[in-house]
Amino acid sequence: MAHPASPAPSEPAQIEPAQIEPAQIEALVRDAVRRLAVGGHAVHSAAAGGHSAAASRQSPRAEAADKPNLVVSISARHCHLTDEHVEILFGPGATLTPEKPLYQDGFFAAAQTVMVVGPRRRMLPSVRVLGPTRSHSQVELALTDSISLGIDAPVRHSGDIAGTPGCVLVGPAGTVQLQQGVIRAARHVHINHRDCKYYGVENGDLMRLKVTSPGCSLVFEDVLVRADDAAKLEVHIDTDEGNACNLDAATAIELEPQRSDCRCKH
Ligand SMILES: [Zn+2]
Repeated sequence: MAHPASPAPSEPAQIEPAQIEPAQIEALVRDAVRRLAVGGHAVHSAAAGGHSAAASRQSPRAEAADKPNLVVSISARHCHLTDEHVEILFGPGATLTPEKPLYQDGFFAAAQTVMVVGPRRRMLPSVRVLGPTRSHSQVELALTDSISLGIDAPVRHSGDIAGTPGCVLVGPAGTVQLQQGVIRAARHVHINHRDCKYYGVENGDLMRLKVTSPGCSLVFEDVLVRADDAAKLEVHIDTDEGNACNLDAATAIELEPQRSDCRCKH
């Protein structure tokens, strides 16, 4: 049984002892989980973890009828797990329990959360697990999260985790030491091939997202095209990026090819 959704404090919880040995981590974080669960704070929507927050923070739709329906979502910190790690963390035979479907068909926020522990005794107590399971476990953080954890997470495309920092994951049934897999997910757009034609882009291209927002409009460059026939048009940015342009208050969003990165320049 997963522990209840714990609060996501603005500062990471601190584990008290001055030194941490690997063997001590599990006991320490279990104690922390118990204390946090007793605390029973409300979960702030902007830091609730996982794409569960994203669904309620989708931006206004593009209005012209001939345009693809553009959605911009904030992807809060979350993790992906292998089947093996799900069983270690949540018990033999455990599988992810879908709790909330994501905008992309077939993907979901799971009921389960894990604790992510970094160096220097820092941790994030409740990081949402997204499903389905994958071939490699991976933790996706915003820069603010990685600073809080003391992990220097590089910007990477999902799945490109070679040489990235690791961390410790703690669940109610066990602990996993990830040797690598902590990243800041590169901003990207899920798009099908029909919409690729509309914008004149291909898989792997870069696009530009303009967000018009009162007092804090912003243009995001380097939005990676992730083309898939099953995709619904959706840009994923992280919480830092979404907060910087106050996406909730945005009055217009616009996506266009990033011509400065045109392949003709080779
Ligand atoms: Zn995505």
